Amino acid sequence: MEYLDLSPYEYTDFPIPMRCIGWLGQEHGMQSSQNPPMDLRTYERFKSASRRLSAVMLGTHDCEFCPDDHWFEGNGEYRYYMPDGQTYAAPMMVVHYVDAHDYRLPMPFRESLMHPGELVWDWRAERLSAVLLDESADFEVRCEAIIDLTNWQDDRSLTALRRAAEDELLVDVSGHELGRSLALLSAGRGEGGRHLVDEAELPSPVREGIALALRELPGGGMRSTRH
Ligand SMILES: [Zn+2]
Repeated sequence: MEYLDLSPYEYTDFPIPMRCIGWLGQEHGMQSSQNPPMDLRTYERFKSASRRLSAVMLGTHDCEFCPDDHWFEGNGEYRYYMPDGQTYAAPMMVVHYVDAHDYRLPMPFRESLMHPGELVWDWRAERLSAVLLDESADFEVRCEAIIDLTNWQDDRSLTALRRAAEDELLVDVSGHELGRSLALLSAGRGEGGRHLVDEAELPSPVREGIALALRELPGGGMRSTRH
C-alpha cells in the first residue's frame, strides 16, 4: 500500500480520522525528501513513540528501497495519538525508512511530536473505549482498541480494558494483548492502578499476557537483571 504523506488514512475503516505517514513505495518514491534532517530530540521522541504495533493482523509491507538481497518487510502499524489532537498512522516499516533510507518525516508530524504537554483523556479515548465494549463493532477495530487505549494513562482506559476481559471472544483472540495493556497501564498508574485490576478474577490468557509484559517492563523480571 502506498499513500501520500499526510493524506487521510483509508487503508481500513477506523473510527478515528488519521493521517498517513511513511506509506512509501515506488510510485511516489521517497516522500518528504525536501525536508531538513531530523534533530536528535525529535528522532528520540519518534523512536519512543514507535513502540507498540497495532493492527498486526493486516498484511505485510515490504521495503521497495532496499536492494533485492537485503529484503525487509514489516507487519502492523504504529498509531500516534498526539497531545495536539492529531492522529497519525504509519506502517511498521516507517522506522526502517528513517534509519536505513533517510526518510525525512513530514514537518507537521514532527511539530505534533514535539508539542508540549501530556496526552489527556479526550474524544478519541472515549470513542476507542466505546468501540472496545461494543459487541456489534468491527472485531479487528475492537482488537486494535485494546492496544491503542494504552496511550491514555488514565483509570478510564484501565476500566474499559478490565471490562473487555469479560468478553470471551476478545479474550480468545487477543487475551495476551489485553493482559499486556492492563500491565502497561497499571504499571503507569502505580499503586492506585493495581487496585483496579484484580488478577485472580482474570481469564488465564489475560494473566499470561500480564506475566509476559511484566518481564519486559523496566525493573520487572528479566530486563532488570540485564544491566
Ligand atoms: Zn529498506
